[in-house]
Amino acid sequence: MTSKTYYLIINLIVLFVLSITYSTAQQNYPSTPPAVSPMEMKPEMTEIWEPEVKIITPAKKLGNAPSDAIVLFDGKNLDQWVSQKDTTKPAPWKIINNDHIEVVPGSGGIQTKMKFGDCQLHIEFSAPDEVKDAGQGRGNSGVFFQNRYELQVLDSYNNRTYRNGQAASIYKDHAPLVNAMRSPLEWNTYDVIYTAPRFSDSGELDAPARITVLHNGVLVQNNVTINGLTLYIGLHNYPSAHGDDVISLQDHGNKTQFRNIWIRKL
Ligand code: MG
Repeated sequence: MTSKTYYLIINLIVLFVLSITYSTAQQNYPSTPPAVSPMEMKPEMTEIWEPEVKIITPAKKLGNAPSDAIVLFDGKNLDQWVSQKDTTKPAPWKIINNDHIEVVPGSGGIQTKMKFGDCQLHIEFSAPDEVKDAGQGRGNSGVFFQNRYELQVLDSYNNRTYRNGQAASIYKDHAPLVNAMRSPLEWNTYDVIYTAPRFSDSGELDAPARITVLHNGVLVQNNVTINGLTLYIGLHNYPSAHGDDVISLQDHGNKTQFRNIWIRKL
């Protein structure tokens, strides 16, 4: 026997043994999960009990403040607000029928005394009783989160304007998904979940602000990124780091009305 033939025979034997081993292993490999796992799981192993979830009382009527909300305006007074022109002065807007407030054009915006970061806000608004002017001139106001980022308030009922400037837009940043505006004689609701921007210790932007908005119960902003400080002219950005800040309502020269304002810190 030549050495070449010898090696060929050895190789054939090795291949034969390997193929038997492989087919035996295949036969032994289970095709279904084992009946008993290495550690037997019990229902309680995936139950978390402590600490107990805080109990609050929701409002009897959807849209009203739950027990853990801070009521910012309930028709009685503007004690939670001050003038933006002079923050040592009371908010200069008019309370009507112990029900709602109306912007007093020219008096300036109003802002909360308290400062907020992440929050859930409920606010109701109505276009002025008298429908006049068009575009950005009709029922314009705005809710500014952290005194910087504007959720637009406008009478967008039969009133075209630029899409990222109509009601429920993040002004000049994101158009709303749909126009859910009611007629000027009806009240609208905004329900907002706002996440403040995060900054590093050195003042760099770690994460931009995010916002979700329901307009009259309809999702119009779905956890969108706020691209920065609201500007009328120019691209939005984050010029400087900041912490919690006030919520402000804009005086844009129109008699826009607000009622039932409450907030929950998140
Ligand atoms: Mg505005």
